Amino acid sequence: MRVMIWVDAEGISGITSWEQVLAGRSRYEEGRRLITQEVNAAVRGAKLAGAKEIVVVDCHGAGGENSFRNFLPEMLEPDAEYVIGAAWTTYTVPLEQGFDGAIFLGFHAKAGTPDGVLSHTVSESWLNFFVNGEPAGEIAICAAVCGHFGVPVWLVTGDEAACREAKAVLGKEVKTVSVKKGLTRFSARCIPPQEAWRRIEMAVTEVVQHPPKVLPYRPSEPTTLRVEFTAPEHVRNYLRDGVRQVNDRTVEVTAENFHAAWRILWGR
Ligand SMILES: [Zn+2]
Repeated sequence: MRVMIWVDAEGISGITSWEQVLAGRSRYEEGRRLITQEVNAAVRGAKLAGAKEIVVVDCHGAGGENSFRNFLPEMLEPDAEYVIGAAWTTYTVPLEQGFDGAIFLGFHAKAGTPDGVLSHTVSESWLNFFVNGEPAGEIAICAAVCGHFGVPVWLVTGDEAACREAKAVLGKEVKTVSVKKGLTRFSARCIPPQEAWRRIEMAVTEVVQHPPKVLPYRPSEPTTLRVEFTAPEHVRNYLRDGVRQVNDRTVEVTAENFHAAWRILWGR
Protein backbone atom coordinates (compact mmCIF):
# COMPACT_ATOMS: atom_id res chain seq x y z
CA MET A 1 0.00 0.00 0.00
CA ARG A 2 1.05 3.58 -0.67
CA VAL A 3 -0.38 6.15 1.71
CA MET A 4 -0.55 9.94 1.72
CA ILE A 5 -0.99 11.66 5.10
CA TRP A 6 -2.35 15.23 5.16
CA VAL A 7 -1.59 17.04 8.42
CA ASP A 8 -3.34 20.08 9.86
CA ALA A 9 -2.80 21.50 13.35
CA GLU A 10 -6.09 22.49 14.94
CA GLY A 11 -7.34 18.93 15.41
CA ILE A 12 -4.10 17.60 16.91
CA SER A 13 -4.29 16.17 20.43
CA GLY A 14 -3.43 18.72 23.13
CA ILE A 15 -4.14 21.72 20.91
CA THR A 16 -7.00 24.02 21.96
CA SER A 17 -5.70 27.53 21.31
CA TRP A 18 -4.43 29.75 18.49
CA GLU A 19 -1.38 30.34 20.72
CA GLN A 20 -0.24 26.82 19.86
CA VAL A 21 -0.71 26.93 16.10
CA LEU A 22 0.24 30.42 14.91
CA ALA A 23 3.87 31.30 14.27
CA GLY A 24 5.37 33.70 16.78
CA ARG A 25 2.77 33.06 19.46
CA SER A 26 3.82 32.03 22.97
CA ARG A 27 3.07 28.32 22.72
CA TYR A 28 3.81 27.71 19.02
CA GLU A 29 6.86 25.53 19.74
CA GLU A 30 4.73 23.33 22.00
CA GLY A 31 2.22 23.03 19.16
CA ARG A 32 4.97 21.95 16.78
CA ARG A 33 6.08 19.20 19.16
CA LEU A 34 2.53 17.94 19.51
CA ILE A 35 2.01 17.97 15.74
CA THR A 36 5.31 16.19 15.06
CA GLN A 37 4.74 13.45 17.63
CA GLU A 38 1.23 12.78 16.33
CA VAL A 39 2.62 12.58 12.78
CA ASN A 40 5.15 10.04 14.04
CA ALA A 41 2.38 7.93 15.56
CA ALA A 42 0.55 7.85 12.22
CA VAL A 43 3.74 6.98 10.34
CA ARG A 44 4.54 4.17 12.82
CA GLY A 45 1.04 2.80 12.24
CA ALA A 46 1.50 2.82 8.47
CA LYS A 47 4.91 1.15 8.80
CA LEU A 48 3.51 -1.54 11.10
CA ALA A 49 0.89 -2.28 8.45
CA GLY A 50 3.64 -2.73 5.88
CA ALA A 51 2.99 0.39 3.79
CA LYS A 52 5.42 0.52 0.87
CA GLU A 53 5.50 4.27 0.58
CA ILE A 54 4.40 6.96 3.03
CA VAL A 55 4.27 10.63 2.04
CA VAL A 56 3.30 13.13 4.73
CA VAL A 57 2.30 16.68 3.79
CA ASP A 58 2.37 19.63 6.17
CA CYS A 59 -0.94 21.39 5.46
CA HIS A 60 -1.05 24.02 8.21
CA GLY A 61 -0.59 27.69 7.40
CA ALA A 62 0.95 28.91 10.67
CA GLY A 63 1.71 32.31 9.13
CA GLY A 64 4.63 33.80 7.23
CA GLU A 65 7.76 31.70 6.87
CA ASN A 66 6.34 29.00 9.14
CA SER A 67 3.41 28.21 6.88
CA PHE A 68 3.51 24.53 5.91
CA ARG A 69 6.78 24.21 7.89
CA ASN A 70 5.49 23.10 11.27
CA PHE A 71 7.15 19.70 11.67
CA LEU A 72 10.31 19.56 13.80
CA PRO A 73 12.61 17.87 11.28
CA GLU A 74 15.04 16.22 13.69
CA MET A 75 12.20 14.44 15.49
CA LEU A 76 10.53 12.93 12.41
CA GLU A 77 10.07 9.17 12.20
CA PRO A 78 12.31 7.47 9.59
CA ASP A 79 11.03 5.52 6.56
CA ALA A 80 8.59 8.16 5.34
CA GLU A 81 9.00 11.31 3.26
CA TYR A 82 7.80 14.71 4.35
CA VAL A 83 6.58 17.53 2.10
CA ILE A 84 7.49 20.85 3.67
CA GLY A 85 6.65 24.34 2.47
CA ALA A 86 4.26 23.44 -0.36
CA ALA A 87 1.26 25.80 -0.55
CA TRP A 88 -1.98 24.29 0.74
CA THR A 89 -3.62 21.62 -1.48
CA THR A 90 -1.05 22.09 -4.27
CA TYR A 91 1.11 18.99 -3.75
CA THR A 92 -0.74 16.29 -5.68
CA VAL A 93 2.11 14.08 -6.94
CA PRO A 94 1.22 11.00 -4.83
CA LEU A 95 -2.41 11.35 -5.97
CA GLU A 96 -1.30 11.51 -9.60
CA GLN A 97 0.88 8.43 -8.98
CA GLY A 98 -2.14 6.42 -7.87
CA PHE A 99 -1.50 6.14 -4.13
CA ASP A 100 -4.05 3.83 -2.54
CA GLY A 101 -5.52 6.02 0.19
CA ALA A 102 -5.30 9.23 2.19
CA ILE A 103 -5.33 9.90 5.91
CA PHE A 104 -6.31 13.31 7.33
CA LEU A 105 -4.55 13.95 10.64
CA GLY A 106 -5.42 16.79 13.02
CA PHE A 107 -8.30 18.17 10.95
CA HIS A 108 -10.97 20.55 12.26
CA ALA A 109 -14.64 21.31 11.64
CA LYS A 110 -15.89 23.94 9.21
CA ALA A 111 -16.52 27.58 10.05
CA GLY A 112 -19.52 28.14 12.29
CA THR A 113 -19.40 24.80 14.14
CA PRO A 114 -20.12 25.70 17.79
CA ASP A 115 -18.34 22.67 19.30
CA GLY A 116 -15.57 22.62 16.69
CA VAL A 117 -12.25 23.36 18.41
CA LEU A 118 -10.62 26.22 16.46
CA SER A 119 -13.20 25.60 13.74
CA HIS A 120 -12.84 27.68 10.59
CA THR A 121 -12.70 27.24 6.84
CA VAL A 122 -9.43 28.24 5.18
CA SER A 123 -9.15 31.63 6.89
CA GLU A 124 -10.87 33.73 9.51
CA SER A 125 -11.82 36.03 6.60
CA TRP A 126 -14.01 33.26 5.12
CA LEU A 127 -17.44 33.37 6.75
CA ASN A 128 -18.89 30.52 4.69
CA PHE A 129 -17.86 28.27 1.83
CA PHE A 130 -20.24 26.34 -0.40
CA VAL A 131 -19.72 23.55 -2.93
CA ASN A 132 -22.72 23.36 -5.28
CA GLY A 133 -24.73 25.28 -2.68
CA GLU A 134 -23.88 22.98 0.23
CA PRO A 135 -21.82 24.31 3.17
CA ALA A 136 -18.36 22.75 3.09
CA GLY A 137 -15.18 22.87 5.16
CA GLU A 138 -11.58 21.79 4.82
CA ILE A 139 -12.37 18.08 5.15
CA ALA A 140 -14.56 18.32 2.04
CA ILE A 141 -12.02 20.50 0.21
CA CYS A 142 -9.07 18.18 0.81
CA ALA A 143 -11.17 15.06 0.19
CA ALA A 144 -12.34 16.53 -3.13
CA VAL A 145 -8.73 17.16 -4.19
CA CYS A 146 -7.92 13.51 -3.37
CA GLY A 147 -11.15 12.35 -5.01
CA HIS A 148 -10.34 14.21 -8.20
CA PHE A 149 -7.44 11.80 -8.65
CA GLY A 150 -9.51 8.79 -7.56
CA VAL A 151 -7.97 8.49 -4.09
CA PRO A 152 -10.31 7.77 -1.14
CA VAL A 153 -9.90 9.11 2.40
CA TRP A 154 -9.68 6.18 4.82
CA LEU A 155 -9.22 7.89 8.18
CA VAL A 156 -9.85 11.34 9.65
CA THR A 157 -8.61 12.38 13.11
CA GLY A 158 -9.45 15.53 15.04
CA ASP A 159 -12.07 16.58 17.55
CA GLU A 160 -15.54 15.02 17.73
CA ALA A 161 -16.99 17.71 15.47
CA ALA A 162 -14.39 16.98 12.78
CA CYS A 163 -15.13 13.24 13.02
CA ARG A 164 -18.87 13.93 12.72
CA GLU A 165 -18.27 16.17 9.70
CA ALA A 166 -16.04 13.53 8.08
CA LYS A 167 -18.84 10.94 8.33
CA ALA A 168 -21.39 13.43 6.97
CA VAL A 169 -19.22 14.27 3.95
CA LEU A 170 -17.50 10.96 3.21
CA GLY A 171 -20.04 8.45 4.52
CA LYS A 172 -20.21 6.37 7.65
CA GLU A 173 -17.58 3.87 6.42
CA VAL A 174 -14.74 6.36 6.89
CA LYS A 175 -12.80 5.58 10.05
CA THR A 176 -12.32 8.36 12.58
CA VAL A 177 -10.35 8.92 15.76
CA SER A 178 -11.54 11.65 18.09
CA VAL A 179 -8.83 13.09 20.33
CA LYS A 180 -10.97 15.73 22.06
CA LYS A 181 -14.58 16.84 22.48
CA GLY A 182 -15.08 20.55 21.92
CA LEU A 183 -17.03 22.35 24.64
CA THR A 184 -16.72 25.65 22.82
CA ARG A 185 -14.45 26.79 20.00
CA PHE A 186 -11.64 27.32 22.52
CA SER A 187 -12.18 24.62 25.15
CA ALA A 188 -12.31 20.86 25.04
CA ARG A 189 -12.46 17.69 27.08
CA CYS A 190 -9.27 15.92 25.94
CA ILE A 191 -7.56 12.58 26.10
CA PRO A 192 -3.83 12.89 26.80
CA PRO A 193 -1.64 13.07 23.69
CA GLN A 194 0.08 9.78 24.55
CA GLU A 195 -3.29 8.02 24.49
CA ALA A 196 -4.24 9.80 21.24
CA TRP A 197 -0.99 8.67 19.63
CA ARG A 198 -1.66 5.08 20.65
CA ARG A 199 -5.19 5.15 19.19
CA ILE A 200 -4.01 6.86 16.00
CA GLU A 201 -1.18 4.40 15.46
CA MET A 202 -3.65 1.51 15.83
CA ALA A 203 -6.25 3.12 13.55
CA VAL A 204 -3.70 3.81 10.81
CA THR A 205 -2.45 0.23 10.97
CA GLU A 206 -6.02 -0.99 10.69
CA VAL A 207 -7.02 1.13 7.66
CA VAL A 208 -3.81 0.39 5.77
CA GLN A 209 -4.24 -3.36 6.37
CA HIS A 210 -8.00 -3.33 5.77
CA PRO A 211 -9.04 -0.20 3.86
CA PRO A 212 -12.62 0.84 4.65
CA LYS A 213 -15.10 0.82 1.78
CA VAL A 214 -15.04 4.54 1.11
CA LEU A 215 -15.43 5.88 -2.40
CA PRO A 216 -13.25 8.74 -3.64
CA TYR A 217 -15.16 11.95 -2.86
CA ARG A 218 -16.28 13.76 -6.00
CA PRO A 219 -18.75 16.66 -5.80
CA SER A 220 -21.20 16.70 -8.73
CA GLU A 221 -19.94 18.26 -11.95
CA PRO A 222 -19.84 20.94 -13.25
CA THR A 223 -18.96 22.35 -9.85
CA THR A 224 -19.70 25.75 -8.36
CA LEU A 225 -17.69 27.10 -5.44
CA ARG A 226 -18.88 30.12 -3.48
CA VAL A 227 -16.95 32.04 -0.84
CA GLU A 228 -18.76 34.44 1.45
CA PHE A 229 -16.22 36.66 3.24
CA THR A 230 -16.62 38.32 6.62
CA ALA A 231 -16.15 41.75 5.04
CA PRO A 232 -16.09 43.29 1.53
CA GLU A 233 -12.38 44.18 1.51
CA HIS A 234 -11.38 40.51 1.19
CA VAL A 235 -13.11 40.14 -2.19
CA ARG A 236 -10.40 41.92 -4.16
CA ASN A 237 -7.79 39.25 -3.22
CA TYR A 238 -9.77 36.72 -5.25
CA LEU A 239 -10.93 38.72 -8.24
CA ARG A 240 -9.19 37.16 -11.21
CA ASP A 241 -10.07 35.44 -14.50
CA GLY A 242 -12.92 33.01 -13.96
CA VAL A 243 -13.98 34.40 -10.57
CA ARG A 244 -17.17 36.44 -10.48
CA GLN A 245 -18.34 38.76 -7.75
CA VAL A 246 -21.88 37.90 -6.63
CA ASN A 247 -22.41 40.66 -4.09
CA ASP A 248 -20.35 42.98 -1.88
CA ARG A 249 -18.68 40.14 -0.01
CA THR A 250 -19.21 37.02 -2.09
CA VAL A 251 -17.40 35.44 -5.06
CA GLU A 252 -18.24 32.38 -7.15
CA VAL A 253 -16.44 30.09 -9.59
CA THR A 254 -17.95 27.43 -11.85
CA ALA A 255 -15.82 24.92 -13.73
CA GLU A 256 -16.00 21.40 -15.15
CA ASN A 257 -15.03 19.82 -11.81
CA PHE A 258 -14.03 20.69 -8.24
CA HIS A 259 -10.30 20.71 -8.82
CA ALA A 260 -10.53 22.99 -11.85
CA ALA A 261 -12.79 25.42 -9.95
CA TRP A 262 -10.53 25.31 -6.88
CA ARG A 263 -7.45 26.19 -8.96
CA ILE A 264 -9.27 29.06 -10.66
CA LEU A 265 -10.29 30.45 -7.26
CA TRP A 266 -6.63 30.56 -6.20
CA GLY A 267 -5.23 31.55 -9.61
CA ARG A 268 -3.10 28.39 -9.86
ZN1 LIG B 1 -4.60 24.64 10.09
